[in-house]
Amino acid sequence: MQQTFVQPEFRVKIDYDKCHKCGRCVQQCGWGVYDFNERPIPHDEKCRACHRCVTYCPAHCITIEKNTLAFRDNDNWSTDARKAVWKQAETGGVLLTSMGNPRPYERIFDKLVLDACQVTNPSIDPLREPMELRTYLGRKSDSVAVEPNGTGGFKLAGSTGLERNVKLDTPIIFAPMSYGSVSLNVHRSLAMAAERCGILMNTGEGGLHEDLYPYQDNVIVQVASGRFGVSPEYLQRGAAIEIKIGQGAKPGIGGHLPGEKIDREVSSTRMIPQGSDAISPAPHHDIYSIEDLRQLIYALKEASGYKTVGVKIAAVHNVAAIASGIVRAGADYIYLDGFKGGTGAAPQVIRDHIGIPIEIALAAVDQRLRDEGIRNQTSIIAAGSIRSSADAAKAIALGADVVAIGTATLLALGCHLCQSCHTGKCSWGITTQKPELTRRIDPEWGAERLTNLIHAWSHELQEILGALGVNAVESLRGSRERLRSVGLDEQTCRILGVKPAGL
Ligand code: SF4
Ligand code: SF4
Ligand code: SF4
Repeated sequence: MQQTFVQPEFRVKIDYDKCHKCGRCVQQCGWGVYDFNERPIPHDEKCRACHRCVTYCPAHCITIEKNTLAFRDNDNWSTDARKAVWKQAETGGVLLTSMGNPRPYERIFDKLVLDACQVTNPSIDPLREPMELRTYLGRKSDSVAVEPNGTGGFKLAGSTGLERNVKLDTPIIFAPMSYGSVSLNVHRSLAMAAERCGILMNTGEGGLHEDLYPYQDNVIVQVASGRFGVSPEYLQRGAAIEIKIGQGAKPGIGGHLPGEKIDREVSSTRMIPQGSDAISPAPHHDIYSIEDLRQLIYALKEASGYKTVGVKIAAVHNVAAIASGIVRAGADYIYLDGFKGGTGAAPQVIRDHIGIPIEIALAAVDQRLRDEGIRNQTSIIAAGSIRSSADAAKAIALGADVVAIGTATLLALGCHLCQSCHTGKCSWGITTQKPELTRRIDPEWGAERLTNLIHAWSHELQEILGALGVNAVESLRGSRERLRSVGLDEQTCRILGVKPAGL
């Protein structure tokens, strides 16, 4: 057999003096790294550094180390670039990967800082004062009419236009992840947590499993290019409907869920034959213009009794002009997905080199919609590596109504970012359909962890608002004056609409 040039990325080290020879590591590893012959024997080349065995080893005697093979220094030909060439020379194939773009592009959120009140405009203590995080997703009225209430005051005359909006108790929702790419127990966890937190989860493009019907008021149902699972009943069930045009991690390309992940349950939910590949075309075959998009938006509104209909796009060049067209096509919200967003499977070259940062896209879209006087006609959801409540607050200050989190939810469920979701062997039971692995996520346990995460971030958001001296998240939305940059170049600051610190 031809010898591979690609050496193992990690070394699995076992302290056999401490090892109980219990075999738990063998059972825990989804990638079959271990043989067992009186003691565990690891095959380093299969290890993904997912840390499942490390976490569950009762003797704490496993360590996973980077294989520190020395390569001759070359700033142009990085080690990863050399390994990629060797792999492709062996396989002749596209390199597949998953999760978000790990390359060292500038992390703009980390170079933005928030303001705080001092002396003349006092801050607010969120533990003593009401602090409103409630947010409405959807089109708002530009104005409301009032009329005398007969007692010297005024009351609303007619509708506020909020009836068709979706109410969220906090401006953080769960990002789309399809059943098929993640396990049903992950979907159950997300749905239960969404209900408990008064927020939304999102089916992604894989349809809505009947186990989630009790949570349908907290579910966005997605309509993607493959139309998997889409039926009149599906549209009726969603709290809102989302047309997926693009995904931040893989703009401009479709999706492919391999047949081995399409078991009986996934097949009936997606409405495709068991064992057949689920191919999502790159474009929607009925959308080639804003007018086509408008037709689909209104077809979905009519089919669902005029529910909120949003459009998800990847952050790309000219995103502001694209967003303007989407609003004019009638979308009640725009979901902007930045290039650091996660994915269950993507060609590495696409994930790492296509798209733009969410911070830039968000600021450009918000500004364009304001300039055109149509900002109120839509809500903006920002996603693509929102890693903390601070990122959420900065995104809202840049113009988002709501942020969506995907990778953070998977981390909460045990994900260790090993970037191997596309293999379908996730040791943590998250991105797999193997029953012996999926049962590792207990939905009740998962829902509790996700609920904790949302509550923790919401409390922190309240603390941030208090420090800023405002008592409602609405007052922070698009308030770029409350941001300053530390170390961003002038051009980036100009696009973001943010001054450098000190000004
Ligand atoms: S889980 Fe730990 S203690 Fe058990 S066999 Fe593996 S290395 Fe040894
Ligand atoms: S892939 Fe994960 S579970 Fe398997 S040996 Fe490596 S770290 Fe342990
Ligand atoms: S979901 Fe599983 S396979 Fe995917 S990155 Fe996380 S731990 Fe790895």
